[in-house]
Amino acid sequence: MQFSQVFGLDHLKKKLIANIQNNRLPHAQLFLGAEGSGKLGLALALTQYLYCSDRTDEDSCGACSSCRKISSHSHPDVHFTFPVAASKETSTQYMNQWREMHGVSHYFNTQDWMSSIAKDENKTANITREETRSILSRLSLKPFEGDAKTLIIWMPEYLKKESNVLLKLIEEPPQKTYFILVAEDLQQLLPTITSRTQITKISTYTLAETSTFLHNKYGLEKSQIAHIGRLAEGNLRLAIQLIENETNDFATYFREWMLACYKNDIKSVSELTDKLHSLGKNQIQLFLKHGIAILRECLLYQTVGNYIINAETNQIPFIEKLSSTLNASFIEKIYEQMNDVIYHLQRNANPKIALFNLSINIRYYFIRK
Ligand SMILES: [Zn+2]
Repeated sequence: MQFSQVFGLDHLKKKLIANIQNNRLPHAQLFLGAEGSGKLGLALALTQYLYCSDRTDEDSCGACSSCRKISSHSHPDVHFTFPVAASKETSTQYMNQWREMHGVSHYFNTQDWMSSIAKDENKTANITREETRSILSRLSLKPFEGDAKTLIIWMPEYLKKESNVLLKLIEEPPQKTYFILVAEDLQQLLPTITSRTQITKISTYTLAETSTFLHNKYGLEKSQIAHIGRLAEGNLRLAIQLIENETNDFATYFREWMLACYKNDIKSVSELTDKLHSLGKNQIQLFLKHGIAILRECLLYQTVGNYIINAETNQIPFIEKLSSTLNASFIEKIYEQMNDVIYHLQRNANPKIALFNLSINIRYYFIRK
């Protein structure tokens, strides 16, 4: 991947290029950014630039043998480590899936990755002891082609018990080895590791950037872009999913769900929960994001005088009606609880139970008004 293929982040690209040109590339770096940011793309572009035999001041050439091997994830000196599903497995077994995943986008999260390798998105992600052994043996080899080796560790948060092996490697690196850790959550990493890396924070894309990205990629109309941009909040993974999963009519599901809760119709709630459950965890999260956006508009409509609702035209009567049936503090509570459910779904909560519990709470708020 070339720098030009990573959306935005121009100031970071310049800084990374300057590091290489001035021979000041740290041997251990941590690229830290939220889901849907450009952190993995940036790590790949940096690696390609490092090995390119015909680079310019702006970018790798994209055509030399190194560039071609790196962009197809098959350069013998560039190694990858990422979470897998079973205890005896290693990343090298999944390089084909890894390549396929990058063919689609580099904004995927752990859940997307796990469902692509395990066919069961509920499997627990893990960077295994076998993997750390494999890292040790791969990095003990002399570089095959260039004069340096690189290990990109995607989501080192999943190293857990094996973190000490990495720590030792970073402390006493094999000759000419670069480590690039690509992570989302600093709290999940050992401070002894992070203190030995140079941290580059990759900011979340702004609304304007998200809109430009969507316009370039899909050429959508302005109103559609604005709607998706608001929902995605700078997360390009979410933005892509919202556009590519438009077949699910979340707006209708959400209206039906609120109505069933309002009418205290447990049978319909249960049927709807089943229907959502059958779509899978990812889709449930997208559905809840839709709901959260609707509730945000309800809250603003209710509390800000002369507020003009910011939503698709066919949603506006529903937002007005929902605002008149719930008071602001209850809207806020439902909003928070939906965010909580998303958080727990990403951490292996049972979707059916989580949705049903949420429905019971919402029903209670409608009764209390
Ligand atoms: Zn090149």
